[in-house]
Amino acid sequence: MTSYDVVIVGGGVIGGSTAYHLAAGADFDGSVLVVEKDPSYEFASCARSNGSIRQQFSLPENIAICLYGLEFYRNAHDWLAVDGEAFDLPFTERGYLFMATEGRVAVMESNNALQRSMGGKAEIVWADDLPARFPWLNPEGLAGVSFGAEGEGWIDPYTLVRGYRRKARALGVEYRDDEVTGLRVEGGRVTAVELASGVAVGCGAVVNAAGYHAGRVAAMAGIDLPVEPRKRYVYAFDCRERIAPMPQCFTPNGVYVRAETGGGYIAGVSPPLERDPPCWDYDVEYCLFEDVVWPELAHRFPAFEAIKLRNAWACHYDYNPLDENGIVDSHPEVRNFHFANGFSGHGVQQSPAAGRAVAELICHGGFRTIDLSRLNYARIAKGEALREVEIVEAF
Ligand SMILES: Cc1cc2nc3c(=O)[nH]c(=O)nc-3n(C[C@H](O)[C@H](O)[C@H](O)COP(=O)(O)OP(=O)(O)OC[C@H]3O[C@@H](n4cnc5c(N)ncnc54)[C@H](O)[C@@H]3O)c2cc1C
Repeated sequence: MTSYDVVIVGGGVIGGSTAYHLAAGADFDGSVLVVEKDPSYEFASCARSNGSIRQQFSLPENIAICLYGLEFYRNAHDWLAVDGEAFDLPFTERGYLFMATEGRVAVMESNNALQRSMGGKAEIVWADDLPARFPWLNPEGLAGVSFGAEGEGWIDPYTLVRGYRRKARALGVEYRDDEVTGLRVEGGRVTAVELASGVAVGCGAVVNAAGYHAGRVAAMAGIDLPVEPRKRYVYAFDCRERIAPMPQCFTPNGVYVRAETGGGYIAGVSPPLERDPPCWDYDVEYCLFEDVVWPELAHRFPAFEAIKLRNAWACHYDYNPLDENGIVDSHPEVRNFHFANGFSGHGVQQSPAAGRAVAELICHGGFRTIDLSRLNYARIAKGEALREVEIVEAF
């Protein structure tokens, strides 16, 4: 049986980043196989995501994770270069804007203070200054906004996943187009990975980087991992009036919108809990746009009273229902089974740090750069949530 030191299940942004950080790091000289069942990435969450990036979080771990993400994206031309050819990662640094009502001011101020103490650049713009700074915004009922103009915006996630893959391969990582269908566990270790093609591959360690399929992959090793596919929709629309430059904006009710680089806009919202069961299909729910997204857009951005829906698509968050944060850890009993799962809506921007953290777990048995020990697996079993404290409130 062919064997590898590390087998990574899933070659999306998390698997790709893990492969890259292992292969590029000085502390690892083993062999790595990435098994990817959908090499076109048609149904991968990363390829259908918005690629938004920010450092506006409330947990120090998430802020640190995203600061490394920013460093990575700023250096991607060099770090992901192959054969001297620079890597071109489209990064639209147009900012990220969260709106707050009076009741969320204290949260906005404490989040902002923490972000700035760690190197984040977001500023608070109070209600009186909104008309001058953002003339296209209806400030009614807003106490202010938290606006990150520098280092926040969006990258192209499909280019990123391709970049990780290309660079990892150049560094000696093997990719195999196949599906992991089983994991053999003997003596508290995963010893082999079974593939749909009928082949079994031996492994020294396994990384679960299967995105919204992560729960299924963990179950193959008898491990319970409540990471669920939760469907999210992206609605693309046109408006005759151009709001430019427009950052990624979140209304107080959690509807987001941004002006796309090539023209038009995209928007969406997380569905209310009762309309958000785990599911596997990719059908678009258009009534969510009619009932929730468009009315909120028309209220907050007067120009959007007249818009034309052009396109829409759906994919799934790798949703951690306990607290919507990543699980980055090694299993306490199956010690060579490593998790990088459950990033919910943040996996693209968190992929650089998550991949580096898993590489550290594999090489050193613990974290060396950012201490992510609070993103542990044990909190899931104990039901001890590690939640973000948000400025926006869901519908
Ligand atoms: C509509 C939408 C918008 C989003 N917007 C943002 C955003 O703005 N910013 C942000 O940071 N994040 C965003 N996200 C979240 C982000 O896309 C995910 O958190 C991230 O892609 C997770 O990365 P991943 O590599 O774990 O999963 P994926 O990108 O889904 O990749 C997992 C890969 O594993 C493969 N795989 C699964 N099971 C197997 C198996 N058994 N064998 C072999 N291969 C397997 C899959 O084919 C897939 O390619 C968004 C998600 C959605 C759905």
